[in-house]
Amino acid sequence: MNTEKKRPAGEDLDAMQRRMYEAMGISGEVYTFGERILDTLSSRFAEIDAVAQYNQLKVLHAMQEAKVSEACLQGTTGYGYNDLGRETLERVYASVFHTQDALVRPQITCGTHALALALMSNLRPGDELLSPVGRPYDTLEEVIGIRPSRGSLKEYGISYRQVDLLPDGGFDYEGIAGALNEKTRLVTIQRSKGYQTRPTLSVKRIGELIAFLKARRPDIICMVDNCYGEFVEPSEPSDVGADLVVGSLIKNPGGGLAPVGGYLAGKKEWIENAAFRLTSPGLGREVGASLAVLPSFYQGLFLAPTVTAAALKGAVFAANLYERLGFSVLPDGRESRHDIIQAVTFGNPQMLVAFCEGIQAAAPVDSHVLPMPWDMPGYDSQVIMAAGAFVSGSSIELSADGPMKPPYSVYFQGGLTWPHARFGILMTLQKLVEKGLIKVDFS
Ligand SMILES: *Cc1c(COP(=O)(O)O)cnc(C)c1O
Repeated sequence: MNTEKKRPAGEDLDAMQRRMYEAMGISGEVYTFGERILDTLSSRFAEIDAVAQYNQLKVLHAMQEAKVSEACLQGTTGYGYNDLGRETLERVYASVFHTQDALVRPQITCGTHALALALMSNLRPGDELLSPVGRPYDTLEEVIGIRPSRGSLKEYGISYRQVDLLPDGGFDYEGIAGALNEKTRLVTIQRSKGYQTRPTLSVKRIGELIAFLKARRPDIICMVDNCYGEFVEPSEPSDVGADLVVGSLIKNPGGGLAPVGGYLAGKKEWIENAAFRLTSPGLGREVGASLAVLPSFYQGLFLAPTVTAAALKGAVFAANLYERLGFSVLPDGRESRHDIIQAVTFGNPQMLVAFCEGIQAAAPVDSHVLPMPWDMPGYDSQVIMAAGAFVSGSSIELSADGPMKPPYSVYFQGGLTWPHARFGILMTLQKLVEKGLIKVDFS
């Protein structure tokens, strides 16, 4: 090997990279500012890579153990009886999450549907649902009936109780013990903060909460809304006592390739209940044609650990970059990560818009369109959203949104590759600089 050639070639690549960034609209000062931030992140990135390495082997091991074969990539049509690929994929998911069973289907339309399915199939009239971690994700309020809604759990005589987190983000153990009663049947624990300002729960903290609940009531079902959390840590909530974990395939576990779908993994009995609810009593999991989606489900799961790592690097980069510029960021630049969502608070509507314009301008699809605030149904203020995704609405792809009201925070997530996430974040900064809203000054 000719080692003498290495240095000039390396310098050349650096110059090529700067020129390419410039051609793509990133100024020298913005590029350099990003470089300075990146210089401080090598140990964080090494940690993220180590988790991805572990999770990659976990997924690979599950696929080998389940004997995934070429025949598994063929889908079925019609009723979908004897769908080898579907059945094997469900064994792979069960193995990845270390659960008895799993249900992974394109007929589960999104994360909300997967969660609603888990709840509606495992609760019966007269039962009570408990959230010991405060208000659940927006869309679940209608599933539960916190906001009146057609077909909600409430309409079926299933009641709901909630115990908020303490002001410091801790669990209100006293309140939780007091909320448990003879009707309590299922406890829902949301891992990610979603669009709230509370901290995201680590797998360890979820385990502590479940241990507390099970010590008092071993019979209750502990379900975790795992959206945005998959593969962020080396273990999952099902490794620390969760009876059921639920999520969306157009987030982390679909690896950006799954075009639709949701999953439930957990105890056999709870999964069977969900299958009979998803299709029909008497039919359960035996029907449900997989059509042509199986290759993307398998390949997406295979890529999910590294895609999640790319999204995490983007989140850590953005946190450190915007923190350095004086903005409040959640999580902060140093905190350990338990989901892929990053919030930045601008306190200024123009900045929120400029950020979203940057994400959109950096997209592989629809980069030429301008995101604009609009009146989205179900929200009490206008919302701005940026997404230029291969899969519509996919939030494992680089995307951002924020309500147009104080404190003007943007929530951003995703990035199928780290180079793209890096470019997208630099483009947000470029838009802010171009509009004269901030100055980059690394001093
Ligand atoms: C995204 C999300 C959901 C709902 O998923 P959809 O696919 O948008 O319906 C539920 N809970 C959490 C925490 C989420 O992040």
